Amino acid sequence: MKISTVLRFGTYIPVFMALVVLTTLVFSYRQMAEMHTAADNVLQIRNSINDINQIVFSYILYHEDRPKTQFAAGYEKLAGLIDDTQLNSEEQRSLLENIGRNNDAIKTQFAQLVLNYDIRDTVSSAEFQRTETALENSLMQTSYEADTDAAHLRSLVDAVIRDTQTKTTGLVAGAVILATLASTPFLAFTRRRITKSLTGLSQGASVIGSGNLDFIVEEKGDDEITQLSRAFNRMTADLKSVTASKTELEKEIEKRKQAEESLKKSEQRWATTLASIGDAVIATDKAGNTAFMNAEAELLTGWTLREASGRPVEEVFHVVNEQTRQVIESPVAKVIRTGQVCGLANHTSLVRKDGTEIPIDDSGAPIISEGGDITGAVLVFRDISRRRKVEDRVRQLADQWQLTFDSITDPISIQDKDFKLVRVNKAYADAVRMKEAELTGRKCYEVIHGLTCHIAGCPHQKTLETGKSSTVEFFEPRLGIYIEASTSPILDKNGEVTGTVHIAKNITARKKVAAALQTERAKLTGLLKSMEDGVGIISADLQLEYINPAMEAEYGPVAGRKCYEYFNNRSDVCPWCRNDEIFAGKSIRSDVQSIKTGKIYEVTYAPLKNEDGTLSKLTVWHDITERKKVEELKDGFIGMVSHELRTPLTIITGAVHTALLEGLPPDERDVLLKDAAAGAESLENILGNLLELSRYQANRLVLANEPVNIRKAVDEVVEQLKGKSPAHRLKNHVGERISVVADKVRIERILHNLIENAIKYSPDGGDVTVTASQEDGFLVIGVSDQGIGISLADQARLFLPFERLERLTGGIKGLGLGLVVCRRLVEAHGGRMWVESEEGKGSTFYFSLQLEKKD
Ligand code: ADP
Repeated sequence: MKISTVLRFGTYIPVFMALVVLTTLVFSYRQMAEMHTAADNVLQIRNSINDINQIVFSYILYHEDRPKTQFAAGYEKLAGLIDDTQLNSEEQRSLLENIGRNNDAIKTQFAQLVLNYDIRDTVSSAEFQRTETALENSLMQTSYEADTDAAHLRSLVDAVIRDTQTKTTGLVAGAVILATLASTPFLAFTRRRITKSLTGLSQGASVIGSGNLDFIVEEKGDDEITQLSRAFNRMTADLKSVTASKTELEKEIEKRKQAEESLKKSEQRWATTLASIGDAVIATDKAGNTAFMNAEAELLTGWTLREASGRPVEEVFHVVNEQTRQVIESPVAKVIRTGQVCGLANHTSLVRKDGTEIPIDDSGAPIISEGGDITGAVLVFRDISRRRKVEDRVRQLADQWQLTFDSITDPISIQDKDFKLVRVNKAYADAVRMKEAELTGRKCYEVIHGLTCHIAGCPHQKTLETGKSSTVEFFEPRLGIYIEASTSPILDKNGEVTGTVHIAKNITARKKVAAALQTERAKLTGLLKSMEDGVGIISADLQLEYINPAMEAEYGPVAGRKCYEYFNNRSDVCPWCRNDEIFAGKSIRSDVQSIKTGKIYEVTYAPLKNEDGTLSKLTVWHDITERKKVEELKDGFIGMVSHELRTPLTIITGAVHTALLEGLPPDERDVLLKDAAAGAESLENILGNLLELSRYQANRLVLANEPVNIRKAVDEVVEQLKGKSPAHRLKNHVGERISVVADKVRIERILHNLIENAIKYSPDGGDVTVTASQEDGFLVIGVSDQGIGISLADQARLFLPFERLERLTGGIKGLGLGLVVCRRLVEAHGGRMWVESEEGKGSTFYFSLQLEKKD
């Protein structure tokens, strides 16, 4: 069946069903309209009944005339309504008739009521009332019945209306459902057929659209879509045959288009290239006339293409030799003649249209057609002013570099990794007495050392290995000089060492100076070491930079200490420090005492310039502790000597002057003269001791060698001194025959000094005893007293010059000279001297003399 037929059936069913529904609806509508009219009438009937009731009540209550007229109208209206009302069922009509009857009954009863009222005067009131009440009740009853019938009628009419509505709705719904059920299979069937066929067609279209013209859509049945599929398959077949020839044609067209576009692009590219090319380009025809110029060519020649076009190229491209000024033949003619590419000679200048010149570099080439014919020439040239300048500058720099290289007085070479000399300077060539050109390519160790391999520690080898600079010093016997050779790496772009720059310095003079310096330094060090004086170098911030061994031995290692810590145990700068003056360039000498050792130094400070230009302080400490002491002693001694000499002199002078007075009794004069003599003796003794000491110090002490009887010598001295103190008992315990070979005067002086001291230092008197004994070839003579004695500590100082034990001697006069002289004299005799003493108990001074002299 055709789809259109199916669709037609599918359309009829709803139309038929619509007609059924419409008819039903019209019928229902009419019935409903009638029923609604009846219902309205019934409603009005009921309302009229109510109105009549109202009127009746109104009359019953007031018995006025107006209700009477109203009742008549109400009665007429209700009767009219009843007549107008058309009802369907019997029951309804019966009810309506009842209502009509009751209406009539009400009319009658109302007329009776009116009559009863109108005749009230004619009847008794009871009669009137009875009739009235009976009529009223009857009216109420009738009225009630009429209203009840009307209400019942209304409900019957409403029920009919509801029933009719329900029926109509059911009918319409049934018709719709029926129509839907009847048309659905048709529609489903039709949809399936259309969809399936159209899907097949659509798939076919997309397959064909993708280029597969061999696809055939399924043709099933004889409906319209099958016809469409058939037409579609025919169209595909036609398309296939048309496409075959069209594709070929399109391919050809596409090819040509591409070829044209590529040609166009190529032409554009070449045109752009020629126009924008940095080089100037002039093309000529076969006759050598200008055919094309690019922008750069226009700029350089000063000609525009329009001006130059067709002119002989020599006119436009006018070139001369820069140096000779001669016109150079344009290469165009040669190129066209030979068909070969050719370039210009060096130093070519292009003479521009305005006469100015530009150095150029150019080349010419023939233009050859596809057939191999020369159809013209093309000139390519460029402005080389900048390049020329750069070249000149490079040349200039190279010259400068060479000049500099050759001006360096140290021999320099550039060597490759194989020790070959790449380049050497003049100094190098001169040093090895060869020409620079001869040296290039030779191995450096052959040239310098005459060896076949490099020397041990060769700096070039080291730099090649480490990539770092290297320096070595050596003596080259072939050249008879010391050389300091240093090498620096030459690196390529990747940081690889490709060779070295080798600088050799003749350091013979420096070496000699260094050796001399070394010697001097050794001498100086030796000197500083052997010096008793201290030598030190102190920095500006008072740091001890150097201390010689003498000072180090005295004060210990420096250990980074400052001078004030080292010498004086101070934590801050010594207040007497004059550093500022010294570092201002002044040399200073001053006496300084070390707090640490108590030693006194004469210190010389002088500024010392260091190699780096800074200043240090050179300090020399000369120990003057002894000298100072001697000086102090000397000062004291001079005072003492003057005093000690003046005393006997005063005595002598006074005694002599007094003795010379006239009339002086002789015994008094004798006493005076004895005093003078004693003073003179004392004076003689002091002067004698002084003389002995000075002789000893001047090394001029000469001893007499004679036999000396010690006992006699002691006796003589005792004789001289016995008058000194009556409180002392001078005892000579020396054997009679004891004698030595000695200087008698000196032995007597020794004895004199010792016995005199024994007397002096035993102020309470007592025995002064001289003994002599022999021990080991020596005669030991002792002088003992019972005096103040000497402590062990003081004994150590006894024999020093001018040393007096003031603490003990108190007011006892003396020079501190006697014991020193004794000792010197004893030692001059080859003996020695010592003391044995105990404080407060007395002392014994001993001296020994050789019994037999060994010559
Ligand atoms: P001087 O007697 O003139 O002072 P000396 O050289 O004779 O000088 O003596 C040095 C010191 O030795 C004396 O000052 C004294 O203190 C001490 N001295 C010398 N002899 C004795 C002694 N016998 N007893 C005690 N002290 C003595």
